[in-house]
Amino acid sequence: MAETKLKALEKLHLRRRLRPSDRLPEAVVVRDGRRLLSFSCNDYLNLSLDPRVIEAAVEATRRYGAGAGASRLVTGDHPLFAELEARLARLKGTEDCIVFGSGYLANAGILPALMGADDLILTDALSHACLLSGARLAGARTLTFRHNDMAHLAELLETHRASHPHCLVVTDGVFSMDGDLPPLPEMAALCARHDAWLFTDDAHGIGVVGGGRGSSFAFGDKVDVPLQMGTLSKAIGGYGGYLCASKPVVDLMRTRARTFVFSTGLPPASVAAAIAALDIIESEPGYCQRPLDLARLFAWQMQLPAPQSPIVPVIVGDASRALALSAALEAEGFLVAAIRPPTVPRGTARLRFTFTARHREEDVERLAETLKRLMEG
Ligand SMILES: *Cc1c(COP(=O)(O)O)cnc(C)c1O
Repeated sequence: MAETKLKALEKLHLRRRLRPSDRLPEAVVVRDGRRLLSFSCNDYLNLSLDPRVIEAAVEATRRYGAGAGASRLVTGDHPLFAELEARLARLKGTEDCIVFGSGYLANAGILPALMGADDLILTDALSHACLLSGARLAGARTLTFRHNDMAHLAELLETHRASHPHCLVVTDGVFSMDGDLPPLPEMAALCARHDAWLFTDDAHGIGVVGGGRGSSFAFGDKVDVPLQMGTLSKAIGGYGGYLCASKPVVDLMRTRARTFVFSTGLPPASVAAAIAALDIIESEPGYCQRPLDLARLFAWQMQLPAPQSPIVPVIVGDASRALALSAALEAEGFLVAAIRPPTVPRGTARLRFTFTARHREEDVERLAETLKRLMEG
């Protein structure tokens, strides 16, 4: 049965394979013995290999051990958690914060704890897959609005909001495959008007937009987003997920989010690494700005619209063309992911470039020149 399924996927160019990759500093990845310059890592600030972050993880392992030993509600709540949660709440400007095992686990736990079968979830059409998993687990009525289309969201709120006790509006803070931001000030105003909660998944926002504080801070004045979720596994450089919110919401999660209650706490090393990463993010705003500056340089060279985040998609349409261009770039020493359905809608297969603080300007220029030549050829 599995073999038949795999064959069908192979035919559609949708079969995926793992490739062992050794990541080195300065955004280098070694594959099959070859050094490639990576434009495919979400480690935007290169903190996963930062000596200060590594040292913090090693020290925490020595002091507190390799694992948490239990769910945090049992004996797994080692002292570093409280410090990390206070730091994240401060960065995001919320009352409290709760750390989960990963971003995916956070979304799979938060949505069902907040929303039930009678409730309404409205979600952007391009929201990350794990938000849809969370919405499904919640069992709430879930409707999709067209990507960043506030008129459509307003229409859905007007038509459906009144017939449900609670309503949650869900969006990525930075869209993971397109790199754009939702119009958060407008969204927050719509939510306030219709008594709906606004939830952002800021996996690709924290550390790199809004001066490192994420998408709520990318529009000048802080936008009032009561539920700011994110991950510690991208710009933060380690592993884990979080929700920054009011104290009652966080307390509800500690009591009811199943992926929190029934899953082991993060290892001390991951928590300490995240704290060390936040030290760097809070003290070096210029460093946090670099990935976006380099993305803008690349987009300018490619004559693409100015990006709003360090993610720049180059849409090529067909999955096989995306794969061929990715392979051609690899032959030239660049690692660039081809993103295909079902990760992105059919017909929008793309190369997805992510820029990191430690890329050099001359490498970004060389990348753009190479890509232009390959796309013409
Ligand atoms: C990566 C990602 C996640 C998942 O986070 P993990 O910590 O890797 O599980 C969730 N949402 C979005 C938008 C992401 O890009």
